[in-house]
Amino acid sequence: MAGLHALANPLKAMTTNLLDFDLHGLQAFCESLGEKRFRAQQLFRWIHQKGESDFDRMTDLAVGFRHKLKQHALIKGLDKISEHTSADGTIKWLFSVGNGDAIEAVYIPESDRGTLCVSSQAGCAVGCRFCSTGHQGFSRNLTTAEITAQLWMAEHHLRQKLGRSERVISNVVMMGMGEPLQNYSALVPALKTMLDDHGYGLSRRRVTVSTSGVVPMMDRLGEDCPVALAVSLHAPTDALRDVLVPLNVKYPLAELMQASLRYLDHAPRDFITFEYCMLSGVNDQPEHAQLLIDLIARSGVGGQGLSCKLNLIPFNPFPASGLVRSSVEAVGRFAQQLQQAGLVTTVRKTRGDDIDAACGQLAGDVVDRTKLAQRKSSQRVIPVVVSPL
Ligand code: SF4
Repeated sequence: MAGLHALANPLKAMTTNLLDFDLHGLQAFCESLGEKRFRAQQLFRWIHQKGESDFDRMTDLAVGFRHKLKQHALIKGLDKISEHTSADGTIKWLFSVGNGDAIEAVYIPESDRGTLCVSSQAGCAVGCRFCSTGHQGFSRNLTTAEITAQLWMAEHHLRQKLGRSERVISNVVMMGMGEPLQNYSALVPALKTMLDDHGYGLSRRRVTVSTSGVVPMMDRLGEDCPVALAVSLHAPTDALRDVLVPLNVKYPLAELMQASLRYLDHAPRDFITFEYCMLSGVNDQPEHAQLLIDLIARSGVGGQGLSCKLNLIPFNPFPASGLVRSSVEAVGRFAQQLQQAGLVTTVRKTRGDDIDAACGQLAGDVVDRTKLAQRKSSQRVIPVVVSPL
């Protein structure tokens, strides 16, 4: 776990950021200071439930313990560069993570929930063709502290702003910048903090990891921390998906669908969500819908089809994508075709697009350290005509 690595280096431990720990990691840290493990629970609640960062204000901790904490630890969020609020109430924060890199988090309020979209990497190496983050290239993985800090800062900032003492953020989606499963070791302690009753106490159904299909890590997530899973599908054939989601070359559709099926054994919901970004003339035609129906039908068990929900996402154009959003009519037709085949299908409402906070628009500000070969692999020509499987 990312946080435990800090303990191995006494110099680093001098300034250990406690946001780097899930409760288990914090217990180990407290023990390394010669304190009882149960002290970690109190400390964890101060940090995550009360949003406190000043050890002196943690009044029910023994003075000696607070003194040790002041010597060896700190609780530090991210440096906020900007905060923009959309006409629909969506809030986008831009945070600096050093060395010229900046990441984004987005809060989406709805009548029955408050969702925070969290980033896992500065940039992304997958390079999906329709994604602004992927277009920027990849700089580095975020640490556990940097992932957790997005929730810690947003939750306590919103509580203060709205004058509320109870929880504001009810759902977390790991759908911001980055491929979360390519930053697995930092991701899992952050997820555990979100789920922990002494942390944010979110149910597994309300925390969603979105992946472009890192098959081995989907299996590990199912074992280690089975939260809800969303799979970025975007194409019904390998020929098209190889181009739209270059990771498909490594983990083709047959493997991805089997991994999705395996995940259902652990999933907190009895379905997987498949995300499908609607691109005019590229993947939004009736034959694509039929190929998608066939793909899902043959991926299930005993001819039942894979238990899933389809989420159609209107593409959010960005400069240099060379792609066009599908018309409302094309999305409607596509959705209807899937529904008539018995697939639960929704069309995602676009939120916050006046502040570039909509899905696929998060670009932050990343120093591209992607290798040239990787960059080239995401620049292939999109085949408009799809051959049958
Ligand atoms: S869609 Fe997700 S996996 Fe693909 S490039 Fe964007 S951030 Fe990366």
